[in-house]
Amino acid sequence: MSNELPYRFHALPKDKQKLIENTSLLVYECEGTESEIKQWFQTINIAGIPLNEQEELNAVYSGPFVTKARAVFSNSRNANVQKWSTYVRGSVKRQEFLNTALNWVSHGQVEEYMQSHRHDTKIDELQAHFNDVIAWVESIFADCYNEMCGLKWGQLYDEYHNTPYNQKEMTQKAAELMDDPCVKNRKGVFEYLLGGEKDTRLLDVRVFDEATKRRVYKRQTEDARRRGVSNCPLCALGHEARRTKIWGEKEMDADHVEAWSQGGNTSEENCQMLCLTHNRAKGNR
Ligand SMILES: [Zn+2]
Repeated sequence: MSNELPYRFHALPKDKQKLIENTSLLVYECEGTESEIKQWFQTINIAGIPLNEQEELNAVYSGPFVTKARAVFSNSRNANVQKWSTYVRGSVKRQEFLNTALNWVSHGQVEEYMQSHRHDTKIDELQAHFNDVIAWVESIFADCYNEMCGLKWGQLYDEYHNTPYNQKEMTQKAAELMDDPCVKNRKGVFEYLLGGEKDTRLLDVRVFDEATKRRVYKRQTEDARRRGVSNCPLCALGHEARRTKIWGEKEMDADHVEAWSQGGNTSEENCQMLCLTHNRAKGNR
């Protein structure tokens, strides 16, 4: 290689050829148990570009299975790689696609899986499961987003692949959430939708800023004093002593009047201050 380009040996100038021919190589011959060999790889790994975990495992569990698996998942000339990289992060050459495929099929038990399949001459299960997961995602979300790359699709598949979804609806909802300025964690959109739009924590919904909270607190409190009721509108509805309690600013927090998940936005008109107890009880941002 020269400047990342492959060079043919016989095309090299004589002196360069000699240099290569006269270079002595250090060759390690590994013997011992699998864990001993693995330790060896970790030791010699200190020099040069360190092997990552999957590269180490490939070395330790080398055999027909790894060879076949690499031909598919570690092959940058595989025409599918482009499509896969929408969902899988990393580099084909550094075995990160293979690692993902193994991770999905083994539900996170990569080493155990490689151990028990080491002498297999087929990789059908590995390949089929990987393709199933990708096809499943495509069947639900018709559009691709950068935020889809590297998500735990294998786990999501395990959890949700028996749930029926409407592709048109899911694609539309994903597009809306990706576009919603209140959604701070766009990577969480897909899991949120797959889970039936329940766990808004996945989206890290933008909360009201301090200036807005202060203005709403002031307005609400002045109004409550005038009417002789609590400045927490929920306490004001109650029958206890808290019905007329005026809470301090620090004892209250902002709440979406119309829940964000029901279409309410994060604007001042949709902001109310609730006492901490009621805010927590309502719990829906
Ligand atoms: Zn209250």
